[in-house]
Amino acid sequence: MLKIMIQRKFFAIIPKKWCKFEKFSSEARCSSPGNKGEGGGGGKGDGGGVGDGEPKKEKNSKNKITVVEGDGIGPEITKAVKTIFDAAKVPIEWEPVSVAPQLDDKGNMIIPPEALESFKRNKVGLKGPLMTPVGKGFRSLNITLRKEFNLYANVRPCKNIEGCPTPYKDVDIVTVRENTEGEYSGIEHEIVEGVVQSIKLITKEASMRVCKYAFEYAKKNQRKKVTAVHKANVMRMSDGLFLNSAKEVAKQYPDIPFDEMNLDTLCLNIVQDPSVYDVLVMPNLYGDIISDTCSGLIGGLGLTSSVNMGDEVAIFEAVHGTAPDIAGKDLANPTALLLSALMMLEYLGLNDVSKKISSAVYGVLKERKVRTQDLGGKSKCSEYTKEICSKL
Ligand code: ATP
Repeated sequence: MLKIMIQRKFFAIIPKKWCKFEKFSSEARCSSPGNKGEGGGGGKGDGGGVGDGEPKKEKNSKNKITVVEGDGIGPEITKAVKTIFDAAKVPIEWEPVSVAPQLDDKGNMIIPPEALESFKRNKVGLKGPLMTPVGKGFRSLNITLRKEFNLYANVRPCKNIEGCPTPYKDVDIVTVRENTEGEYSGIEHEIVEGVVQSIKLITKEASMRVCKYAFEYAKKNQRKKVTAVHKANVMRMSDGLFLNSAKEVAKQYPDIPFDEMNLDTLCLNIVQDPSVYDVLVMPNLYGDIISDTCSGLIGGLGLTSSVNMGDEVAIFEAVHGTAPDIAGKDLANPTALLLSALMMLEYLGLNDVSKKISSAVYGVLKERKVRTQDLGGKSKCSEYTKEICSKL
């Protein structure tokens, strides 16, 4: 009986677009109004972009940037970035928007349409951290934005920073995380009381797309190797599909060495010798965990930048959360958001001004005179910002 109920519930939530797949086709009842746009999705996904030095001005000819201050420490660190950009005379225009959730006619929580319009228009955004309310009826705004704009690859470069020592040397890893499906497909429900089900959804389309992005990134940035991270020995079908997709894409890039590794083996090895890894590509949840691990290897969340990349829209953000414990106290380290904003300038082809600011920020970090508390210093966010400006 339970088995039948599970099957019924399961097929009831499968989005229509996947009904063409053999497994879902025959007996499944394919209606899913609640799952529009969840998981995968269309898109060419030719990768490239971040850090590859190619101007992307055609994507945003006026360099108008949608900016979301975010919650918690978001307003403080966004202000710091804007101050530094003003001091460096960066030729961009900010378009601030709020993404505070609203209720639509049907009582669903939605992102304000003006904010979505702004991202659609400008195609490039800088986003402070957003709080995810815990409880029923709320869905993470971060996930909503990723799905809305099909931001299929989350890219996080982690490289040692001089002046921020850790037990690890020679870290230079870029994690490329599949951002739209896997365990974050949002397909989760209660079957009967006390039995819940969460579906890990892997599609060939999304797996190929993110792996292609990883190889394109490796090619354009002269990286040494791409490693696919998985657990195909246990999740033979889902992770097996991801791994096979990675292998298929790898064949198209014979000049870039490729290997694959079980997630647990990678966790063990990466904390013993991170220097052997270069570009890592993996499904959603593994990417979440491994990219935070890599942040730890270089000195913490306050230093790690990222971008959520789609075919049309790119949203740059710090990897850390809202840090409510230090919010409003002028204690936050703005480096992660600043480095994300510098990635954004490179994406826009504004490499010179990006280099100018990066030598100022790395110079301040190297000197170790003015540092925020998370890096062992005593300086306030505003003092650190002022110091960077003085170096410009
Ligand atoms: P959220 O629920 O939004 O993820 P969190 O507190 O659970 O918030 P983070 O915001 O990532 O998670 O913070 C984890 C820890 O790291 C906190 O102690 C926080 O103060 C610290 N931290 C995070 N970002 C920064 C930053 N930019 N500067 C200084 N400390 C930070």
